[in-house]
Amino acid sequence: MARFCFAALIQLLPIGTLWAQSPLDRAVDRIVPEITAIRHWLHQHPELSNREFQTAARVADHLRRLGFEVDTGVAHTGVVGILRSGKPGPTIAIRADMDALPVTEATTLPFASHVKTVYLGQEVGVAHACGHDIHTAVQLGVATILAGMRADLSGTVKFLFQPAEEGAPPGEEGGAKLMVEEGVLNGPDAPEVIFGFHTWAGMEVGKVGYTKGPALASADRFIATIHGKQAHGAAPQLSVDPIVIGSQVVSAWQTIRSRNLSPFEPSVVTVGIFRGGTRFNIIPGDVELQGTVRTYNPSVQDTIERRMEEILKGITSASGATYDFQYDRFTPVTINDSTLTDQMVGTLARIAGAENVSTMEPWMAAEDFAYYANRIPGFFFRLGTVAPGGYSGGHHAPDFTADDGAIPLGIRLMTGLVLDYLGK
Ligand code: MN
Repeated sequence: MARFCFAALIQLLPIGTLWAQSPLDRAVDRIVPEITAIRHWLHQHPELSNREFQTAARVADHLRRLGFEVDTGVAHTGVVGILRSGKPGPTIAIRADMDALPVTEATTLPFASHVKTVYLGQEVGVAHACGHDIHTAVQLGVATILAGMRADLSGTVKFLFQPAEEGAPPGEEGGAKLMVEEGVLNGPDAPEVIFGFHTWAGMEVGKVGYTKGPALASADRFIATIHGKQAHGAAPQLSVDPIVIGSQVVSAWQTIRSRNLSPFEPSVVTVGIFRGGTRFNIIPGDVELQGTVRTYNPSVQDTIERRMEEILKGITSASGATYDFQYDRFTPVTINDSTLTDQMVGTLARIAGAENVSTMEPWMAAEDFAYYANRIPGFFFRLGTVAPGGYSGGHHAPDFTADDGAIPLGIRLMTGLVLDYLGK
């Protein structure tokens, strides 16, 4: 009778479900409803960079209930949870970012955000428009799974829940840089490697991508002010025209990529603000240029910074103008350690299926995961979040839509990386 029922049960299940399920898969399946509910809650309670108060409280509460050592208030609102197996082995870190963006959500998700706040003096909507709600929820899922396997582990896992990946508000410190400065990679629990991932609106659920070596660009900001001489628009001979000078500077900067750097080295010099003038018939006294530089190579970054100022100096002095130039390096290049990447790619393939894992072109956006990965070997992959046949807007856009279906694979992949590394 029992055998008959079992056979009948097999007939009702999709072929493969029974034999393909490992104990880890079954453990993940059991917690997916809870973790998905947490993701929905996070999505409905999005908080801006350095203001992740409710998010951090919920994360800390979850980790405490699992019996972790928990440190709060790290880099303002960050949470660090430590899981000790009590047996000798490596210490490793995994990282999730928790912050949302000043974006007014326009999705059809039943758990869409309606939160509003004031950001830089403007009323704005707040939304998880970059998928950090999924990163945080998945990492809580990994914590839950590993807490249940504590007796089988060896080594220590440090869970970093980081604020302000998108950048702290002006005048504040924050993010991965501050986490590192506050010592999360140091001390008796110094991790030897770090893993992380980002949701990716360019791939379906079930797909995984990674880039060996430089994976995400560095992001710098510059502000150049050109001081000329104001005059009547009809009397240019009496002026030192900063608009004409600025135009030459913007064009000449574009030759850095084509004439000063190897054609095989990608880079971007974008002027996003060209500001000057008050009236159509007045040549203004000053203009301001602001923009961003993106590269994958610190030596390219050095060349661009140096050449930008040389060009600015040359053109302004030839024109009788003067200048100020400020160049700030924000986020360094995120580099996936070659050895660690080679070591861990097999884990992605085993868990997601080799046919679902692809190598990807680097992404010109920046990630402050770089601050960890510049200190210790890091591996950062991308997780597909588009519902099969469905739709996702772009990252940071009002219609950005990440599907819940990405959660189980995210948990299995991150858990798999931890287990494989600890048991290496
Ligand atoms: Mn992001």
